[in-house]
Amino acid sequence: MRYLLLALRFLWASPNTLIGLTIGGLGLCLGAKVRVRGRTLEFYEGGVQWMLQHISYHQNIAAMTLGHVILGQTGLALEFVRQHEGVHVAQFERWGPFMLPAYLLSSVYVWTRRRRFYRDNPFEREAFGDDAPHEHEDHEEQGRTQ
Ligand SMILES: [Zn+2]
Repeated sequence: MRYLLLALRFLWASPNTLIGLTIGGLGLCLGAKVRVRGRTLEFYEGGVQWMLQHISYHQNIAAMTLGHVILGQTGLALEFVRQHEGVHVAQFERWGPFMLPAYLLSSVYVWTRRRRFYRDNPFEREAFGDDAPHEHEDHEEQGRTQ
């Protein structure tokens, strides 16, 4: 039963995982590395690092989770953000194909309420482990994660 539930989680999150595998695979062609950590595949350096450095105009994104794939700038950066990204993996297992639309709509919603697009998103607040929206600013100093 436990394995069946685990298989269902992988299946439910798989549309997002496929997007992650596509980006990670392209990154591999451009010198990225890949490794298994827990129930995720981590892609980092090379093309993956380049993408994360250029995906956002003024924010430094250390890592990004897509289903059971975590894209990171470096192996070391992934060590620092693994707990945060692990919460996102669990969110992808819970929300499945609805995760990305729900995440984006949440960001738009908080932005229309004059709050921060990224940091006040409920998915990020859960990943940062806070209940108060304006605390734990120090996390942002360590590099933005998504
Ligand atoms: Zn995050």
